[in-house]
Amino acid sequence: MIIVEKENIPLIRVENLKKYYPVKGGIITHTTGYVKAVDGVSFSVMRGQTLGLVGESGCGKSTIGRQLVGLETPTEGKIYYDGTDLSLLQKDRKQMREVRTKLQMIFQDPYSSLNPRKHIYEILAQPMLYHKIARKDTVEKEILRLLDMVGLPGTALGRYPHEFSGGQRQRIGIARALSLNPEFIVCDEPVSALDVSIQAQILNLLKELQKELGLTLLFVGHGLGAVNYVSDQIAVMYLGKIVEYGDAKEIFHQPVHPYTQALLEAVPIPDPAEKGRERSLLQGEIGNSTCPPEGCRFHPRCPYATEQCRQVAPEMQAINAPVGNVLEADTESRKVQGRNAGSVKAWEADAESVKTREAGTESMKGREADAGSGRMRAAEIVGRMAGDRGQTRNPGVHMAACPVAGSQRVRQAL
Ligand code: SF4
Repeated sequence: MIIVEKENIPLIRVENLKKYYPVKGGIITHTTGYVKAVDGVSFSVMRGQTLGLVGESGCGKSTIGRQLVGLETPTEGKIYYDGTDLSLLQKDRKQMREVRTKLQMIFQDPYSSLNPRKHIYEILAQPMLYHKIARKDTVEKEILRLLDMVGLPGTALGRYPHEFSGGQRQRIGIARALSLNPEFIVCDEPVSALDVSIQAQILNLLKELQKELGLTLLFVGHGLGAVNYVSDQIAVMYLGKIVEYGDAKEIFHQPVHPYTQALLEAVPIPDPAEKGRERSLLQGEIGNSTCPPEGCRFHPRCPYATEQCRQVAPEMQAINAPVGNVLEADTESRKVQGRNAGSVKAWEADAESVKTREAGTESMKGREADAGSGRMRAAEIVGRMAGDRGQTRNPGVHMAACPVAGSQRVRQAL
């Protein structure tokens, strides 16, 4: 029997997640369609890591975050927390309540997310007392510890939210999220309502707290700059789907999908020499998620769109990774995630197609020699899973849903 160590299971795993909101209309009100806010999204976040979710407003990234912490119910798909399917806990209120404390959220607007009629003591004490994290006689000590962790003075206890600046209010929001000793926090654009100087302070605070407390984060953001700063992995979303996914540095420095490239172009560069630099900014509006475009959803705005893009929705594929790495890393990921053997075989076939594209280069010959068969590697990986406790990293395979741009990059690299 293979024993999969707890450290090897992603803390959060999402499979084919969908969220459709009904649109009501007609004389006798009935459902006339659905807003497909999230439309088949899969990803995983390893313990202690940060996944950055980036995209334009309305692409569905906040909806994913809200579903992860239980504020929205998925229309379809699965969310696993530490290997447990959250939908199976819905009927067991006691267990669900326990799990809820482990999944917390920092909201975008630090003002409207704090009750203006309650002072900070009440805002922080109530959840701790309700969930029995602290007793009445110890709760004040706990609150003072939390305030110290987020860089606020103890005198803040008796004050109301309106008496604080935006950055201080966001620190209170972070303290509230931490008050229940969570393992996973969704940071829903936590800095977009703040001044630039304060943004850096809050991002640094989040990084420090993550390191200190071993937190796992989902960081939702508009701009690739801030998301890259805090993330180990990045997933780029467009109109309810992930279009590019992988290691943060790889995506930030060598984006493949045209949409990611456009997001990167929009990142301001604080260098006077870059003044007047020509940027190829995206034209047009994000599409309608009630009736998304056929084929690739990005095609109405994509400068590389072909006839095929207008008809066939592209699948996610590995981009330009050495064959051995692609095969090994993703087979490992699928084994760890407990997926079935069929999907592993399908992935091996994908890795073979990458191998074909790279064949002919000198370096490739060397890699082929030790790549071996996918199945043999899968067996090795299963062996390592049982033996290597320290192996908690996400494989970081760079994937993109754009065969055209992907093949361009492969050609550039050869
Ligand atoms: S598949 Fe790629 S090239 Fe085609 S429209 Fe989509 S992003 Fe553009």
